[in-house]
Amino acid sequence: MFRVARVPQSETPLPTSWKRSLMAHQKPNLPTKICPVCQRPFAWRKKWERCWDEVRYCSDACRKKAKSGESCG
Ligand SMILES: [Zn+2]
Repeated sequence: MFRVARVPQSETPLPTSWKRSLMAHQKPNLPTKICPVCQRPFAWRKKWERCWDEVRYCSDACRKKAKSGESCG
């Protein structure tokens, strides 16, 4: 009699990507910054992928406000 002591492994590990999407499927893990003009957080956007480090304002409107400086109307 030849017998191989082999324990069948029924344990199937879940892929990490699955776990992640299950945990936070609504919130992508994007970096955020606080706009110094309107004090609101804004998230990374595709159009900023090359210049995210330089992005400071959430929108063109806020950038213009910041640049126009002091009271101008
Ligand atoms: Zn802003």
